[in-house]
Amino acid sequence: MDTLLLKEPSCNYPSVLSYLSFFIVIFASYMFRNKKIKLKAVLFDMDGVLFNSMPYHSEAWHKVMKSHGLTLSREEAYMHEGRTGAATINIVFQRELGREATQEEIESIYQEKSVLFNSYAEAERMPGAWELLQKVKGEGLTPMVVTGSGQLSLLERLEHNFPGMFHKELMVTAFDVKYGKPNPEPYLMALKKGGLKADEAVVVENAPLGVEAGHKAGIFTIAVNTGPLDGQVLLDSGADLLLPSMQALCEAWDGLDL
Ligand code: CA
Repeated sequence: MDTLLLKEPSCNYPSVLSYLSFFIVIFASYMFRNKKIKLKAVLFDMDGVLFNSMPYHSEAWHKVMKSHGLTLSREEAYMHEGRTGAATINIVFQRELGREATQEEIESIYQEKSVLFNSYAEAERMPGAWELLQKVKGEGLTPMVVTGSGQLSLLERLEHNFPGMFHKELMVTAFDVKYGKPNPEPYLMALKKGGLKADEAVVVENAPLGVEAGHKAGIFTIAVNTGPLDGQVLLDSGADLLLPSMQALCEAWDGLDL
């Protein structure tokens, strides 16, 4: 089960913590094995999980905010990943202008950000995502997408990049929710759309707020650390299992079975 560990045990790590981490991973994988008995669906986040699109999103957010005289670093964009565009814009407005953005400002800034994002090269499939989806589908499980994105272009690209994997009526996007991640709402909506109980699904997320949303929805949440953040941030957000990449999750997937 070494593949489940995010990092090799460090020599500098206090031994008690080392053992504790080991048992947490063993316990999590034990829980997961038992879960797979009744597992029916796998709820995939999109950006940073299915597509390697986060470098483009963080760049677009940074540049558009800068053009409005506002500051949102690329790194901070990763911390806000998963929020709706409106929520991200309001956080920056509150911090720098001491007020909420108007509806017009939200629509205008989000539109500018979308135009800039779409001007970049198309994000590629995250390595390992297609292979994992094939395993999931092959086991008779239902793959679903749960994203805070309202990028129509990206949603359409799902079918192009992952043909036959997802059904539109089983997707949860920015258009389906009021609050968005880290509120559990998107994942609760996914359970509702899929006719699922919380213990019949697992979440695959890459961002702290997404992990928090999955955890709060009471669903077993697997974090894949595909970005620049410290993996500990994902564990602190409530991840039940942490892997360094989608490829690692794909490789570990069969071992997690009974
Ligand atoms: Ca994400």
